[in-house]
Amino acid sequence: MSETIFSKILRGEIPCHSVYEDEAVLAFLDINPVSPGHTLVIPKEPTATLDQLSDEAAAAIGRVLPRISRAILAVTGATEFNVLQNNGPGAHQAVFHVHFHIIPKFADGRGLGVGWSAGAIDDGAGLAAKIAAAL
Ligand code: AMP
Repeated sequence: MSETIFSKILRGEIPCHSVYEDEAVLAFLDINPVSPGHTLVIPKEPTATLDQLSDEAAAAIGRVLPRISRAILAVTGATEFNVLQNNGPGAHQAVFHVHFHIIPKFADGRGLGVGWSAGAIDDGAGLAAKIAAAL
């Protein structure tokens, strides 16, 4: 994986507002928050997209996401939030080191706006069987 701004943050070469760290995970405030408390949770494993992440790093992230979310809600007073995880430039990924956004959603509308162009499912059984076979 190529060098990213998050590699520099992990090495302590540029500062961040850290909220949590363990041997496999770092969480810090997003420098351009969508809403107050917007936090990024990243694995220390240098991986660009989620599909490439090891089971161990994925488990380490999954273990702490709920706890960090609860702390953000407690501090910001928000009761709702989105977890966003972008993979690839066409999917709005700008930093090519896996990261999960935790974005509080406030009653006044501050937070993530989601465009969701839902359609009708086409051959669900066939598609599900193909995905299951690819696992
Ligand atoms: P994404 O579009 O999912 O790749 O999001 C990348 C996020 O990283 C954006 O929300 C940026 O505001 C955030 N970001 C970029 N540089 C920094 C930095 N130095 N410290 C904290 N957050 C950053």
